[in-house]
Amino acid sequence: MIYCEVMFDQGISGEIPEHRDFIYRIAIPRLEKWGIRVTVLRDPSTYVDNVAHLIRRGPKRGMIRGFPLCGRCAIQRDCKARPINRYLRKRKGEVVQYIGIASDEQERLVRLEGQKISLLDKYGVDEAGAYALCRRAGLLSPIYEFADRNGCFFCPNAKLPELRHLRRYHLDLWARLLQIQALPNKPTERFNRTMTLYDIEQILRAESRQERTELVRDTRRNIDRQSAVLL
Ligand code: SF4
Repeated sequence: MIYCEVMFDQGISGEIPEHRDFIYRIAIPRLEKWGIRVTVLRDPSTYVDNVAHLIRRGPKRGMIRGFPLCGRCAIQRDCKARPINRYLRKRKGEVVQYIGIASDEQERLVRLEGQKISLLDKYGVDEAGAYALCRRAGLLSPIYEFADRNGCFFCPNAKLPELRHLRRYHLDLWARLLQIQALPNKPTERFNRTMTLYDIEQILRAESRQERTELVRDTRRNIDRQSAVLL
């Protein structure tokens, strides 16, 4: 089995840290215990390399590439598909690709071609069934406690709960993304389709300010209530 890990930089995984820990501490050891050898692939280039890549031709010449785009993610192309394709080319015809598409994802299933097979479809397992199977086997990533999808922590498709989680529990990674937002000379300032990271930061900062205010108010209320009982 192969696992392709996208890297943020040479030392930091692109996975959300809880998911990365799950992969290395639970999933890979479990598979290896079952006799399945796991090969980890990584492209030598990273997200940071990609974002800082200097464009040398065309109308954007002289700019850096900047954040990956929704629907046309350069990270998917360079840091994920490229090492997988390189691996497949070396083992031409030897590899069957089992793609995690459930039986109720017809639109994606019709696009499967060549050596690609969906075991979930073969055995009639839909998305809910796949979730239940993973949970039963103790192989459900902790990511599903706060998000309904998984992707790189810098993914332009990340929804607000994922970004909220990143800012709340991994402020160091959030700060690295804000540093990238501050880089000049990008073709677009937007982190996703509609917002810059500064816009998202403002939303999340306002939310945590509100939460803190509510917490202080609740604590005061509790203290007042307890004092009233004691007096
Ligand atoms: S998860 Fe998002 S950022 Fe990562 S490769 Fe896929 S589209 Fe790109």
